Amino acid sequence: MKRRDLLKSAFGLSAGLIGMSALKPLYANDELVMKADPMYDVPVTKVSDRCYYLLAKDPEPSPENHAFFNNPGFIVTSEGVVVIDTGSSVQIGEMVIRQIKTVTDKPILAVINTHYHGDHFLGNHAFIAANPKLDIYSHQATIDNIKKGGGEFWVGFMQRNSNNGISGTVVTPPNKTVKGGETMKFGDTTIKIHQWGTAHTECDLIVEVVEDNVAFLGDTAMRRVANMADGSFPGTVEVMKKAKALGCDHYILGHGPHDNVSICEDMQKFCEIIYGDATKYYEEGLSDFEMKPKIMANPFMKDVASSWPGYEHTIGKFIAVAVAEVEKSMF
Ligand SMILES: [Zn+2]
Repeated sequence: MKRRDLLKSAFGLSAGLIGMSALKPLYANDELVMKADPMYDVPVTKVSDRCYYLLAKDPEPSPENHAFFNNPGFIVTSEGVVVIDTGSSVQIGEMVIRQIKTVTDKPILAVINTHYHGDHFLGNHAFIAANPKLDIYSHQATIDNIKKGGGEFWVGFMQRNSNNGISGTVVTPPNKTVKGGETMKFGDTTIKIHQWGTAHTECDLIVEVVEDNVAFLGDTAMRRVANMADGSFPGTVEVMKKAKALGCDHYILGHGPHDNVSICEDMQKFCEIIYGDATKYYEEGLSDFEMKPKIMANPFMKDVASSWPGYEHTIGKFIAVAVAEVEKSMF
């Protein structure tokens, strides 16, 4: 049996079976699924008294980085640790747990998955393997997406891009839901969950740590041009206005270094330009490839966004997505 088939049957057996013993020995049809090498340690970045994250230096998955290209984060409360997003694999999840232990001996109390893209939840496997009763929170739409094929899609995506560097990872969806609007108390720490409509996906969670005046934005804001296929340009503009209004000192992102409020301003501007121009040129009868050079000539695009990873290759796709959203808004 080929490894791909083995994995497929492994996922078929185990997807959705959170906390079952099926997670541990990685056998499928009595054959061993080889587990890929462990993930190397990524140092912890401290942002505030309670808030930390592991900065991914690369914007894309590769064999060299074991598909580590997003920033898992964590909050250390007086009672224990709340983890925000778990990375692209069981190996990365295990590494995140190791790195948390370099900061605190306190137990891990909960995980929050900001949305359903694989770099944010596939590491859940490691956390459930360590504690089958652990609460993993997300929006219901995140769970639905993962269970209805998203989980398997992202395993394939990570495997292809990392030369099978995530082998052994079992899709482990969240097991608790939040809608946005909740205030959660963990020891001395107040966490507010925000869901403000479609931005990067239809179900992004923004996690505000009240005492530290920090917000984890997930992928709603980034200086990177990667994936808008599940998102909304005007939706992102609205979410950025609300994220700014939180007035946080620090914003921790799914990709790239943490920043102050200027990250929200840049993301808002980027989306306003693409969507505004796409609307204008669409009404003038231009197609997406005709409007591309005009949009790229905008000073913000030329001077700021053009240095963001992925810009060159993906800006055309972003414009096509914006045009599709403009068209949709007309019916
Ligand atoms: Zn994402």
